[in-house]
This record gives sequence, C-alpha cells and structure tokens, in this order.
Amino acid sequence: MNDSEAAMSGSLKRKRKDENDPTELRTDKTENSNDVQTKAKNASLEASTNDNNKFEDLYLDTINRSMLDFDFDKLCSVSLSNLNVYACLVCGKYYQGRGPNSYAYVHALTENHHVFVNCSTLRFYILPESYQVTSAALDDIKYVMQPTYTKEQVSQLDVKETTSYDLDKKPYFPGFIGMNNIKQNDYLNVIVQALAHVKPFRNYFLLTDFSSSPSIVQRLATLIRKIWNPRAFKNHVSPQELTQEITVLSHKKYSVNEQQDPIEFLTWLLSTLHVALGGSRKKVFSLKPTSIIHYIFQGCIRMESQKIHAQTRAGDHIVFEADRRIEVNLVPFLYLTLDPPPKPLFQDEFEGNIIPQVSVYELLTKYNGVTTQELAGFRRRFHITHAPSYIMFHVKRFTRNNYFPEHNPTIVTFPLEGLDLAPYIDKTFLEKNPKLSTIYNLCVNIVHESIFQGENESHVFKVQVKNKATNKWYQIQDLYVEEVSSDLINLGETYIQIWERQTRLP
Ligand SMILES: [Zn+2]
Repeated sequence: MNDSEAAMSGSLKRKRKDENDPTELRTDKTENSNDVQTKAKNASLEASTNDNNKFEDLYLDTINRSMLDFDFDKLCSVSLSNLNVYACLVCGKYYQGRGPNSYAYVHALTENHHVFVNCSTLRFYILPESYQVTSAALDDIKYVMQPTYTKEQVSQLDVKETTSYDLDKKPYFPGFIGMNNIKQNDYLNVIVQALAHVKPFRNYFLLTDFSSSPSIVQRLATLIRKIWNPRAFKNHVSPQELTQEITVLSHKKYSVNEQQDPIEFLTWLLSTLHVALGGSRKKVFSLKPTSIIHYIFQGCIRMESQKIHAQTRAGDHIVFEADRRIEVNLVPFLYLTLDPPPKPLFQDEFEGNIIPQVSVYELLTKYNGVTTQELAGFRRRFHITHAPSYIMFHVKRFTRNNYFPEHNPTIVTFPLEGLDLAPYIDKTFLEKNPKLSTIYNLCVNIVHESIFQGENESHVFKVQVKNKATNKWYQIQDLYVEEVSSDLINLGETYIQIWERQTRLP
C-alpha cells in the first residue's frame, strides 16, 4: 500500500469496488497510482479534516443541479464513447472513465470538479481520489436519472391531482409536461406523449423491470418515467436518447431531422415494441395477445370483398359487374382508418372559405357491416368482430395523387365522451362479452395544423391529453403546455384519436 492509498483508506470512507462491473476495470489502476497530484491532494485533505462527513459535504455542496440534464445520450464529451461514462455533477458534462489519466480524472484535476456519477450504475464517486460516496443528499439526482414508481403511486396518478415544482420553483403537473423538438420531431413527440397517456400502456412502462429488455423498450420506459416524474429538475423532457435508438432501428427513416407522418411512425413503433416485448410475428388475430401492445390496442374486423369486373356490352358502354363470390377475411388492426369525404373540386365562389365538416358517426358508417366501399376493383364492407379496450382512429387526411401529397382539411366533429360503437361491432362479440361496454371516451387527440409560408405548406402536430384526476384537457405542442377548454378540442383538424372503453356499463 502506498502513501496515497493509506491516506485514503485511513481518512475517507472507502466503499467496496465494483468488482463485477467490467466498465470499472480502470479503477484498480487508481489504487496503484503514484500520481503526484493525487498524493498532494490526499495529503492536504488528511491535514485539513478529520471529519469524513464534513469533507464529503463540502464536495457535495459544489453540485450544481441546474447544470444537470440526463436526457441526452451519455457520450464522453472528449472521446464520444458511450462506455464507462461519468457525469460531472458540477458542470453537467460527460467524461469517460475514472482511473488515472482518464477523461473524468483529468477533468477533476484541471477544473477542480470532484463529484461524478456513473451513468449506468448510478453510483457516485469523488475524483480524482476515486472513492464511492453514498449520501441521502444524492437521492434526488439518482431519481431524476431513473425515476421509479410503486404500484401505490401509479394507482394514484389518475386520481390525485399533483402539483410539483422544478428547480426554478415553477409549478408543473407530472404527466403534462413539454417535450423538446430537437429539429423536426413533433411527429414523434405527439406519439410518445399519446402512448404515455394510455393508462395500461403507461402503467406497464412505469412499473416493469426492463433491465434485460432491448434498448428501445428501456429508453421509452425511461422517457415515460421522466414525463410522470413528480420530482423533476426541469418542467420538460427531451426525447433525444429514444430518438437516437429509433433512428438506428428504423434505418434513419425516423429521425429528428425530418417531419414524418405520425400514423406511419405509430405503426412502426407499435410493431417494433410488440416484437421487442416478445410478441408473435404472426399476422393473424388471436384472442390471446402475445404482447401488451396487442392486449391494449388490437382489434379485428371482418372484411367482405367482392371483385368488380368491367365488361363491354353492345352499344359500347362499360358495365361493372360484381363477382358473385364474396370473400370473407378476418383482419387484425391496431387502428381504424376513417376517410373524410373528398375535398370538393370546385368550391362555390361565395363558399370558398368554408371548410367542410363531417361527424365521426358519419365516418364510422364504413364499419357498420352494411355500407359498401368501392376501391381498387373491389366492393367491400367492414364490421368490427373484436373491439379492443383502447380503440384508435386515424383520419386519413393525406393522400398522394400523382406523387403530390394532398391534404384534406375537413373538420371532424365528435363527442369527448360517450361514443357508442355498438352499431359497428358484430353482435356475436357483444353477446360473448355482455359485461363489456360499447361506450368509449376520448383520452388522446392528435391534431394536425398546416402552416403556410407563402405557397409553401408545412405540417405541425400537437397532442391533447386529458388529466383524469382533474378532468381537464391539456394541449402539448413541443415545449408548450396549456390547458385547453373542452369546447375547443373539436375545432382542430383531428388526425389520430385514442378512445378508452368505459369500464362500467351505463
Ligand atoms: Zn465538471
């Protein structure tokens, strides 16, 4: 044992080393270090204090919580490596390693910043001495890095109104906080916010231990836990760590750099999560869902199709005749597409500015099992044979005609509560499940808005979510969160809706 070690073990509370943690291998070198500066430091510490707690407190007092942001990828700011990364709790920067001459070690000596946290083990260390410190005063930092919830806490989220305060003493409501739009990722933000407000989805991601799950699951869980964090340092979150993973998994289709269609992203995300959570890849409907995703959202429709043939008859006019044969298919779905009526080609001179309106009931007639739709040489009708506990609608506003995207601005009106889906659900399902209500209440509404700059149209998305504890609606557009009157929810261009089945029969 050399002098510096003797000084450390003698005067400081040394914790056991992380022997089983391969990322901590560099630690050992610290102990054999003859680094002059370390020696000097330890000697002076030995001389200056005999009270370990006081000494630790001095260092812990240098922590600057307002500089800490754990939403970003944990990459060493010098080497850009993601292995064995420590966050400096004084300036918030990330550095690799803590052994002698590692980046964190050098940072401690050159900047005189001494308190670090290992980003994966959440253990705290004093550098350059490299000993572990445990103190209840650090619990809030640990919690911000990885919030955890008890079943009891989760059961209260929709019952008890909570007002929290960030580091700047600004009030916020956990669960109803902004999400950073890094460049053009509002399409992604609205989907994450939407899913974070679907009760069984949220609860599963708040409570399950995902330590051996794929990274996409872990990162989504962390983000959802941060959205609901009652002890957050700031009143917003950044999806940066999740988007990094999504960009890689989607082969750069979904990134922060380019606006995308939220419904396409939702489809991709749910199917990716389904597989990541061990769900079956079979594309048939099963009454035994293989993942929480299917358990919550998957329903089934019966699709009856009849082929239509064009025949030329005498007199040279074309007659369309339907095949006698009707093909019946059971098609699983995660959302139902609603088709707004086509935009009128020529608008009346005086009515040019009137935006067409249609009610959700009118659009739902598509699923009543009677109304036929003609598309791509088929005549079809649809009926819901299995209604999920959460049913999602997609209002198909975007179509590509001749490779030119067209946007349909039709306003869809809908009730916020009490949507009765009984006319669209097959009788057999209703008879087999007499205790299930057919009444659904809106819990999430994603709204599209066109922004015009001269001739150029761009698309932005915002999300409206209900706080069940207070019965108030909030609109979240990136970092901006505002309470929104329920009368106004109908006025936007609704794009994706999530409806929750009423738990009790009326
Ligand atoms: Zn620092």
